[in-house]
Amino acid sequence: MDKDFSIDAEGLHQAVELMSRDFSHTEGLALPMALPQLGIGSAAALHSLAPSVLGGAARLGAATSFAHMDPPTPWITWAMTLWNASLNQNLLHPATAPVARQMEERVVAWLAPFFGMNGGHMTPGSTVANLTALWSARECAGVTEVIASEAAHLSIAKAAHLLGLKYRSVPIDAYGSMDAAQLPSDLHKSALVLTAGATSTGAIDPLSLAGRAAWTHVDAAWAGPLRMSKYAVLLAGIESADSVAISAHKWLFQPKESALVLFKDTEKAHAAVSFGGAYLAIPNVGVLGSHGATATALLATLLAWGREGIARRIELCMDLARRLKEFVDADERLELYAQPQTGIVVWRPKDERWFDPMLQQLPAGSTSITSIAGVKWFRNVSANPSADIDLLVDAIQAGLAEGV
Ligand SMILES: *Cc1c(COP(=O)(O)O)cnc(C)c1O
Repeated sequence: MDKDFSIDAEGLHQAVELMSRDFSHTEGLALPMALPQLGIGSAAALHSLAPSVLGGAARLGAATSFAHMDPPTPWITWAMTLWNASLNQNLLHPATAPVARQMEERVVAWLAPFFGMNGGHMTPGSTVANLTALWSARECAGVTEVIASEAAHLSIAKAAHLLGLKYRSVPIDAYGSMDAAQLPSDLHKSALVLTAGATSTGAIDPLSLAGRAAWTHVDAAWAGPLRMSKYAVLLAGIESADSVAISAHKWLFQPKESALVLFKDTEKAHAAVSFGGAYLAIPNVGVLGSHGATATALLATLLAWGREGIARRIELCMDLARRLKEFVDADERLELYAQPQTGIVVWRPKDERWFDPMLQQLPAGSTSITSIAGVKWFRNVSANPSADIDLLVDAIQAGLAEGV
């Protein structure tokens, strides 16, 4: 028996212990330029990589982390990911994933009803979920074009390109949502993509448009999980879509790569994107071939927290965004792009000359920059329930003092 394939409790314990160590004063490993001829052994690899992998990583759960859609993850998902790595189930074959397949089915069955959908499957991200949904749209509804707002995620144009569909973009209004008045009237050959939580601004397209086209897909990569919270009504209308994409590695606090594509008529949609193969006992559904047991981490989180626990974290994130928004609103030297809809605050100093000095004052990892219609804005994304808004507000105030 090769020991490297069995449980090394001491090695794994070390791996966990290293996670809480401070590497801020430790140099990262200088990696060899070429593949080493001889290995250094697992324990040595663990210790030599720790300063770079752990010490060099962005800390998404830090008090000042408030910039991107990437959340910190709960420890239960680390444990499941460890189990997944060791078991290495492949959901492509029921024989190599007898339980993991059921876990994915169950997690989809738990989540689909929040969106008025009846099933679906997991994908490594909403990029693939969007592609899969539009592929189904092409097969099931015979669409020849994809229509989305100017603020739609680039994965929509990418999917249209891959599928050989025409891509049309519709202007946005002053809030960053699709301007419904500018939507073409004939949508009988169109897949209409509505975004629920635009990547730049968090804006929600008018979901009342769902059902108007031959196929409606809602890209709820970011804001989808709001359906499980007291803010569910913000996404009213989503239940009239034909398909929905949600990135669980965003607001469901999952490790990458975890997302879902959900369908109103799953049997039909899945049949349209399935292929058989001589060595496969069951048809291969969707874009992926080999497919891991990401679902177990999501299932464990939902089991550990319940709907209430998910809602609590998301509602807390919404509160943090609201506090930042209120601060920006109250300071006459600052302006908001628009009232935040889904935990994303886009703002800037009114005086453009203060932008860079202010940027210098903002803690690293606290704020991202987005450009809308050629104008630069600061962007804060509330994906971290442990963020401390006072630290950000203090830094913005210091930036304002610097500008004056
Ligand atoms: C993040 C995002 C995507 C892409 O999702 P991935 O999980 O990164 O592949 C698509 N659409 C929107 C609106 C997003 O915010």
